[in-house]
Amino acid sequence: MRKPRRLPSLTLCSPRRDHAGGNEKLVKMESGLRVYGGDSRVGALTQKVSHLTSLKVGSLNVKCLCTPCHTSGHICYYVTKPNSSEPPAVFTGDTLFVAGCGKFFEGTPEEMYRALIEILGSLDPQTRVYCGHEYTINNLKFARHVEPDNVSIREKLAWAKAKYDSGEPTIPSTIAEEFTYNPFMRVREKTVQQHAGETDPIRAMGAIRKEKDNFRVPKD
Ligand SMILES: [Zn+2]
Repeated sequence: MRKPRRLPSLTLCSPRRDHAGGNEKLVKMESGLRVYGGDSRVGALTQKVSHLTSLKVGSLNVKCLCTPCHTSGHICYYVTKPNSSEPPAVFTGDTLFVAGCGKFFEGTPEEMYRALIEILGSLDPQTRVYCGHEYTINNLKFARHVEPDNVSIREKLAWAKAKYDSGEPTIPSTIAEEFTYNPFMRVREKTVQQHAGETDPIRAMGAIRKEKDNFRVPKD
């Protein structure tokens, strides 16, 4: 196969070293690489993007979704393939994880609500979610603590443990699935609000994030 030239490097949104740490080295190895990101702290950034900026990677269309909270310049990338029946994909970095979300380092519960519910939550429900970290099992143990009677959480946890045991990833999920077991996507549900002791979904978002920040993950 011919070596592809001028392939843009998509940094997954976060200026943090765990996502963009190799950019300078990559650019040195392959001159002319374009580095996209929503934050001028992203190493070797060449193209700053903002909400709804669109770009192409080969034949794929990429739409940038601004989702500040974990970091103030966080971008999620929504990828579709024209003339294809394949479901879209979204690369959610440190905003949405399978059954969880990123810590609110540079943002507020309002911002995470907007990111998870209004922006990511309104994508095609079949959109596959590719997150920046595999925290699935621990996230599901917290989800089970929030909603002990939620069967989707228990089933997903058993499935995730089996995947882990056979050395396989638990990613991707889908947006539709996240609404069934992710407590941060479920802050409008009575069960989650009752656990949080709040009747407002944004206040519930803040309360369960604070609780998860101090959660001791059980062994089982
Ligand atoms: Zn990260």
